[in-house]
Amino acid sequence: MSSSQPEGYMAYKETFWMACDSTEQLRAEYGPFHTRAEAEMEARKLGFAYLLRYEHLIGDDDDIQEVRCIFIELSTTVTPTVRIVRKLHTRCASCGESAVHDEPWQAEVWADIHEFEHTRHRVRLFEQTRAEGLKEIGDWRDTCA
Ligand SMILES: [Zn+2]
Repeated sequence: MSSSQPEGYMAYKETFWMACDSTEQLRAEYGPFHTRAEAEMEARKLGFAYLLRYEHLIGDDDDIQEVRCIFIELSTTVTPTVRIVRKLHTRCASCGESAVHDEPWQAEVWADIHEFEHTRHRVRLFEQTRAEGLKEIGDWRDTCA
């Protein structure tokens, strides 16, 4: 075989991980670690937002032929909390006056006052959630009472 090895052929690759605080030239690095999990754990402990993966491509004669760095941004440690926003809307079917409430009892009080002040007005209740939008709650005053 007289042909030389094709360019880019590497005998083996050495990979290790660092925890780092930024992707800037002047960054703090901590490591090395053999596994991503170790580096990630350390990064989180230090409050670092990035992992750096070093790949050393080592040739036949144990020379480092190429060094590759790959930055990996860690996903935010804070898991987003699912906040269910729920509002109660009361609206008078007779005159159209409406209000927004946080608590069912507030809607009840509003309806009581409104129906007391305006005879034969009928207040309807709607529940608003982000997922479903406005949804009427039927017979609500009976269930609340
Ligand atoms: Zn009314």
